[in-house]
Amino acid sequence: TGTSSDDFLSGLNPEQRAAAEHGGQGVPGPLLVIAGAGSGKTTTLAHRVAHLLRQGADPQRVLLLTFSRRAAHQMNQRVGAVLQRWLGASGAQAPELPWAGTFHSVGARLLRRYAERIGLSEAFSVHDRGDAEDLMGMVRQQLGLAASTERFPLKSTCLSIYSRVVNGQDELAAILQGAYPWCSAWEAELRRLFAAYVAAKQEQQVLDYDDLLLYWAAMLDEPGIAAELGAAFDHVLVDEYQDTNRLQARILRGLKPDGRGVTVVGDDAQSIYGFRAATVRNILDFPDQFDPPARVVTLDRNYRSTQPILAASNAVIAQAAERYAKALWTDRVSSQKPELVAVSDESGQARWVADQVLAQREAGVRLISQAVLFRSASHSAQLELELVRRNIPFVKFGGLKFLEASHIKDVLSLLRWAENPGNRLAGFRAAQLVAGIGPTRSARLLDAVQAVAVPAEAIGAFDPGSGARDEWAAFAALMRGLMAQVAWPGDLEQAVNWYDAQLERLHDDAAVRRKDLEQLVRVAASYGTRERFLTELALDPPDATSAEAGPPLLDEDYLILSTIHSAKGQEWHSVYLLSAVDGCLPSDMATGTAEEIEEERRLLYVAMTRAKTRLQLVVPQRFYVRQQGAGGDRHVYGARTRFIEDAMLPLFERLPKAPPLPPLPEPRLGAKQPAVDLAARIRATWM
Ligand code: ATP
Ligand code: MG
Repeated sequence: TGTSSDDFLSGLNPEQRAAAEHGGQGVPGPLLVIAGAGSGKTTTLAHRVAHLLRQGADPQRVLLLTFSRRAAHQMNQRVGAVLQRWLGASGAQAPELPWAGTFHSVGARLLRRYAERIGLSEAFSVHDRGDAEDLMGMVRQQLGLAASTERFPLKSTCLSIYSRVVNGQDELAAILQGAYPWCSAWEAELRRLFAAYVAAKQEQQVLDYDDLLLYWAAMLDEPGIAAELGAAFDHVLVDEYQDTNRLQARILRGLKPDGRGVTVVGDDAQSIYGFRAATVRNILDFPDQFDPPARVVTLDRNYRSTQPILAASNAVIAQAAERYAKALWTDRVSSQKPELVAVSDESGQARWVADQVLAQREAGVRLISQAVLFRSASHSAQLELELVRRNIPFVKFGGLKFLEASHIKDVLSLLRWAENPGNRLAGFRAAQLVAGIGPTRSARLLDAVQAVAVPAEAIGAFDPGSGARDEWAAFAALMRGLMAQVAWPGDLEQAVNWYDAQLERLHDDAAVRRKDLEQLVRVAASYGTRERFLTELALDPPDATSAEAGPPLLDEDYLILSTIHSAKGQEWHSVYLLSAVDGCLPSDMATGTAEEIEEERRLLYVAMTRAKTRLQLVVPQRFYVRQQGAGGDRHVYGARTRFIEDAMLPLFERLPKAPPLPPLPEPRLGAKQPAVDLAARIRATWM
């Protein structure tokens, strides 16, 4: 130490630096950094952690909470890179932060550590969203609510309501009234359903996402444990604090009641998880929660985007109903305005974006520096086909996860059941993978397993019926092995080997699925233990890749496709936003309340502020909407998203310079689409 590289904070501006160094030597008081997109909040947080470590903070005692596992990983790397500048000459390695992760994954680890003391089984399973829905569905069936009551909410809706109540720490009646008015009539039934759902989870020793926060918060209500946990961490730092919910704020307060050692950063203009009970009040109310109040640092220089991109983004968010006023500025001058691109329809959009991506690559912008964003995962379907057709490798973030594929769930059910034989959902699924075993036998097996002390014995002794004896013996041997001891990732390999023999019988496209399973085995080793693998996978599955294009190798160049929600905190040289039309953004699923519309506006702001140098918003003149229930799919005519008002148009370049073809009229019901549409062709000559 002691060289000039010592001062790794010198690259920060004075406000950033003040935040990074806040508190001097002792345990610092609470700190809030609230600032707009691209102003260096995450950068400042990384420098702050590096600074604390340099001052001697123990990395084991630093809790760093991020929004995704990917973000935690990136943060760890950034802190490491900053520290390396200081350690460089000494040859020492920058320390890893073992407690960098999401609220949920950290919660799961702490709960396992304290399981015995709080009456949980140490082997509790974590249900992902799909599992949780299935269990909710099972309970709903058992209570007879699915069949007896007409138009009782779907299991997914039931789970969303339940989740809002838990995460929002709110009354069921209030949630129903505010967000699900059409379900208000079933308040009593829902209450009964949720009570049974909670009982089923407890009986089976499974926790869903919400429980990880709920049990953690409840654990902190125990003074003894709260004191221990609070003392275990000297520093607690949270990124993207605007997207935390009440339960998460309660956890933070429980860990550090006086706020000492707490740093939170965020941007109220980027709060986009209200639909999951996140509340922007957490960040707005943070300072005054303490006495004396938290120090507040604001940053107003944007380092990410060019001036024209920033001007357009600022104009969009300036229309927001309520916000902490922020005036971001940048010195990145450019003559290139963001572009509004009119295309005929979604396939025109796919072709346009693919063309642009390739042209950019020709011009030297690698694929990895470009991203395509969209409001809903389904909006990229056409583009994905186009990319595959043109051999452009891509990775998709958000939306349908790898884990939701049935063959992956099958294999995981074997491991989950072995890990926790009380997990009925896993057992129910696993047993039915055996030829000749259906739901009735499977349920009988689970009862038998529950009745004995050694589950593997009950499985071995079970009579599967005359047709299935051999298959059953092989299955019982597998389960006995998996339940007896843990060998990682050998367990997964055994499960995959056994499953491989069932694959042809269970699925037509066995070859593709086999590849996915190979990929699963490849990533498994990095998780260290079976329990860690199952928990982390349920919480934050690896990003889905396109099966056809094959998973890109890590050092290969590939394009990012992402929902806006999953693009939070990131940045790219070029950003394309798909379907910037009313109905897609704002989504027509969300056009209920004014609050929902405001959240959609902030989503557009988040999308636009991901771009450093080039930004294109694509507006198909005609697009497809998928409708649940009656009506089916249909075409609708698009209008530019309402958040880009006419008055803002001078901030954008409009493409193409010539007006696009007007959309073709919808074919009338029963009318045949002509093989050659002469009328359209003739009209086109006049364009
Ligand atoms: P978001 O709101 O999107 O999460 P943020 O406020 O966290 O954004 P960062 O991602 O930390 O912003 O920073 C945005 C970009 O600005 C990054 O490329 C970062 O390296 C750069 N940056 C931040 N601070 C500085 C600085 N002082 N000097 C130069 N570049 C900076
Ligand atoms: Mg950030």
